[in-house]
Amino acid sequence: MKMDLNFLNNKQENKKGKKKDAEPNFTGNIFGAVMIFMLITGLYLVISSSSKEIPEIPISDLAKSVSSGEVKSIAVEADKLNIAYKNGDVKKSKKEIESSLSQTLYNYGVKAEAVQAVEVKIKSDNGVLFWLGNILPFALPVIFVIFFFWYMSRQVKGSGMQAFTFGQSKARITDPNDQNSKVTFKDVAGNKEAKQELLEIVDFLKAPKKFLDIGARIPKGVILTGSPGTGKTLLARAVAGEAGVPFFHLSGSEFVEMFVGVGASRVRDLFKMAKKSAPAIIFVDEIDAIGRTRGGGFGGGNDEREQTLNQILVEMDGFEPNDKVIVMAATNRPDVLDPALIRPGRFDRKVILDLPDRADREEILKIHSLKKPLAEDINLKLIAERTPGFSGADLFSLMNESAILAARENRKKVFQFDLIRSIEKVMMGPERKSHLLTKKEKEITAYHEAGHALVASVLPYADPVHKVSIVARGRAGGYTMKLPLEERKLQSKKEFIDDIAMSLGGYVAEKMIFGDITTGPSSDLQVATNLARAMVTRWGMSDVIGPVALSSDGGKSQWNDPVEKEYSEDIAMKIDSEVSRIINDGLKSAEKVLTENKKALKAIADKLIEVETLEQEDYEKIIIANGILPKKLEV
Ligand code: ADP
Ligand code: MG
Ligand code: ZN
Repeated sequence: MKMDLNFLNNKQENKKGKKKDAEPNFTGNIFGAVMIFMLITGLYLVISSSSKEIPEIPISDLAKSVSSGEVKSIAVEADKLNIAYKNGDVKKSKKEIESSLSQTLYNYGVKAEAVQAVEVKIKSDNGVLFWLGNILPFALPVIFVIFFFWYMSRQVKGSGMQAFTFGQSKARITDPNDQNSKVTFKDVAGNKEAKQELLEIVDFLKAPKKFLDIGARIPKGVILTGSPGTGKTLLARAVAGEAGVPFFHLSGSEFVEMFVGVGASRVRDLFKMAKKSAPAIIFVDEIDAIGRTRGGGFGGGNDEREQTLNQILVEMDGFEPNDKVIVMAATNRPDVLDPALIRPGRFDRKVILDLPDRADREEILKIHSLKKPLAEDINLKLIAERTPGFSGADLFSLMNESAILAARENRKKVFQFDLIRSIEKVMMGPERKSHLLTKKEKEITAYHEAGHALVASVLPYADPVHKVSIVARGRAGGYTMKLPLEERKLQSKKEFIDDIAMSLGGYVAEKMIFGDITTGPSSDLQVATNLARAMVTRWGMSDVIGPVALSSDGGKSQWNDPVEKEYSEDIAMKIDSEVSRIINDGLKSAEKVLTENKKALKAIADKLIEVETLEQEDYEKIIIANGILPKKLEV
């Protein structure tokens, strides 16, 4: 079993690098092996030919010599005869292996007296040597072939292909007692909600007995989602660090190899290892590599991935409550995950990591500047203000770049202008996408989100606002999160109408404040339109069309069959006009709310520009100050 102890990442990288240097290249290895082969065969030939110098005579000649009394002695060794002549000659001969020497000589007509005159020494046939002598010529090539493969496999393994360890897990293990690589929550800035949720997992891993005694069912799987670089991997390590348990770290793509079945066997191996050292955390990074929705593709191209995924599900289902192993996974594509993964009893906890807002960015910069000597003029707050849209990883590399700049200019400390120059560098880097907002864009996004939020707060049937943010999440410029006061299955027409108005709130706000519209609200319009269309065609919520279901509930078909229209052109036109009427009503009600509460809109937007993210509490303070009552849970 191969386990790299993952102490300090870079330390290990160094080691790897050195190892590579010391290894001769692949062609060199073949050359070496061929040389060894030639040497061995050469040696064998020399040894075997050296015994051929003694002349061999036919047995008939020997018989004649015995008859004429020239022979002094014969040494018999199995079928070999070593003959010593009285004149000092030494010769060899061979007899049939089944018959004795005397019998053979007698058959050749040698008289008994003549035979008796010869001294016959019978050597017990030396087993080992005899067999070796017979077997070696055949065995040698086999031995060589085995040696060759062994030698090659060693080389191949060294170069990372691990041809002979397919089935074994390649997980890297972080030992909880290793202080160097220990990461805890204080190394992770921001993400308060995520940490709060994970604290429960930490508590369980620390004292599992307490929870098991009371019969609590502990989550088996936690899935961390968030944009790249938001600290998913880091946070998973921190959970292990906080709990002080071993951390088995594996990337989704590492399960999948050329050979079908390897991934599944790796999964089995990994879970076995983890259970042995329980309590423990298994962390599958980038799980979307194996956890994509199954059965989407045609043909068998995805067999390996499916088997691997199935094996993970099987292992998770097979957990006993006292296995004390928690599986964590991370992905930045939660949308493509197989529904079976997120089913209760598997990865049923979902923790979302956001891009950091201004305060978080400052904190992240602080964490990463701890080991760097900073000059007195450093103002991290200013840098945080100038880096909206940066992820934790971006800020880490920002810090790093500025240290490199300072070192290159032979300075002992990092100055503010190093940081400022590095902002651009990081922005230009291949990782950066274009969602760094300009000042104007930030303003537009702020009003847009404020528009959504305010409409939701004012309209009676919309859900209350939970969080407003202009930090980009996914493809949207910002987001407003609303949560229903109570869980409910049934939604009413009034709620849908207010939802549509709320979806259009961003659009209306942009138009109202800037007299112009950006591409920002395009997905909002889609949401509103889909909702309106569904009201008309599926839920019978239009008075004009009446209570008929004109389109079925089914999700997207796998086979993309052409949409079948189940109604006439005439009805289609009516549907379209109903949809636009509903949308228009929504627009009007959003416009009404925003014009009547312009002051509140501005207040929210201004605050958003300043702090980027507003939690419910701060948000409600602003609307209360503007005379709007936040929604309360009705009893
Ligand atoms: P992800 O797995 O989400 O893509 P990582 O966890 O690999 O991101 O983050 C990359 C690096 O960025 C981390 O090693 C850390 O140095 C830095 N980083 C990211 N988020 C944070 C954060 N919230 N606090 C501190 N450092 C962070
Ligand atoms: Mg990661
Ligand atoms: Zn919007």
